[in-house]
Amino acid sequence: MWLQKELINRNYRELATATERGQKVSATFVPGNLNELLMCFDFARSLPETNALQNGMRKRSGRLIMDAERAGHSEDVCTYVKADLGMMLGGEIGPTGERLPRPDVLLLSYTGCFTFMKWFELVRQKYGCETVMLHVPYQGDGVISPAMRDYVVRQLKDKVIPELERISGVRFDIDRLREYLKESAKAEDDLVWTLESAKHRPSPIDGYFGAVYYIGPIFTAFRGTPEATEYYRVLRTEIEERIRLGKGPVTPEGEMAEEKYRLVVEGPPNWTSFREFWKMFYDEGAVVVTSTYAKVGGTYDFGFRHDPSRPLESLAEYALGCYTNLNLPTRVDMLEKYIREYQADGLLINSIKSCNSFSAGQLLILREVEKRTGKPAAFIESDLVDPRYFSAANIKNRLESYFQMIQQKRAATVAAVAGT
Ligand code: SF4
Repeated sequence: MWLQKELINRNYRELATATERGQKVSATFVPGNLNELLMCFDFARSLPETNALQNGMRKRSGRLIMDAERAGHSEDVCTYVKADLGMMLGGEIGPTGERLPRPDVLLLSYTGCFTFMKWFELVRQKYGCETVMLHVPYQGDGVISPAMRDYVVRQLKDKVIPELERISGVRFDIDRLREYLKESAKAEDDLVWTLESAKHRPSPIDGYFGAVYYIGPIFTAFRGTPEATEYYRVLRTEIEERIRLGKGPVTPEGEMAEEKYRLVVEGPPNWTSFREFWKMFYDEGAVVVTSTYAKVGGTYDFGFRHDPSRPLESLAEYALGCYTNLNLPTRVDMLEKYIREYQADGLLINSIKSCNSFSAGQLLILREVEKRTGKPAAFIESDLVDPRYFSAANIKNRLESYFQMIQQKRAATVAAVAGT
């Protein structure tokens, strides 16, 4: 946790001093990001969702969202967008209190969420900066066809790379990209190992709340750097030790006591009350063994790795395979597999009010997963960074009833087995 905080803060320092050091700045979204490619052009890298999330965790987002609403943005708009626009209206002061620079280029890897496009249209309107769009076809049929991959590669070659060369003034060097991708693959191996360690009993990690700290570097500006590789090596060593000692996850209040419930969670967490939300789980002995949110910046556990021998193809496959680009049947299959492989007691959906991309179809997902696995599922609602939509009492009540439901289901299964 401390190592990842240090990395994230370092990126904010780099961004804050970029303009005076003459470094060009890019902004790009997390799902399907082309971090290694941006590094080839020496850009400092800002990720707007991470800025909103960090402002949420520091309890600054509520005011920023209200500022954006006063400026005319509807209550229904994604709150990441409003937190970002509110920050721009308020003088671009970032989460760490340092000023964030105006981007020189907005690189939109369009992966599944239409809001991404409208968000950057608004940023471009404000700053008049250059925009480069990579259109990533949606996985409507649940597969990445060769034609889809080639279409993305062609855009990279014909449009994205030449534009980034022009804006940065740096010539593209494919061997430099290969070096970064080599580092990415090493870190990805250790990340997958860490996330899958939750198949142990007790799970040595929390695959949702704890995983936030594990995915931070690799989903943002650090994938492809030696620092990220080292971070994931250290993390893996730490988790290996926890398994050896038979320990459960670490929580903000220390070691977790007995593991009573193993859950799979779908949907992003709430950031404004992150600690309070997490506490509702560990106080009851509930561990999230895996979550779809921890795959939002890459479904590496299904085998994908960045590949230095096929640099542009693997960048294309990465963007095509990210979670926001998956269709509903694929998401249902994924959750069913998680419940079985992680021996979970059930599925919990945290439906995010402002994120249509995640939330549309979640009730259908819930019913289908329940039907296929026979495990109980539950539904709670909150928001990403709007504190007005986090009702602690409501969520706590729902969770308590859900844990009771799991106990009853267990008792019924034991009784049925005893009766046979
Ligand atoms: S709607 Fe969801 S996926 Fe789209 S930008 Fe907002 S938080 Fe991200």
